[in-house]
Amino acid sequence: MSSKRRIRRKSCTGKIRHTTEAEARQHIGALVHRKGWTGRMNAYRCPFCNGWHVGHGGRRWQ
Ligand SMILES: [Zn+2]
Repeated sequence: MSSKRRIRRKSCTGKIRHTTEAEARQHIGALVHRKGWTGRMNAYRCPFCNGWHVGHGGRRWQ
């Protein structure tokens, strides 16, 4: 990774970063299991850190 143009970190900081989509989905699974949540959580690829985050549905996070 050599391009350093416009690195925005605002949307990343404070969030849990997963290396793979499977990992992120596992995290969602844990949340659902704990809170009985079924919807509106999704895993999305982060363009800033190149990892995966878990977000709430409703808006597009990319
Ligand atoms: Zn990120």
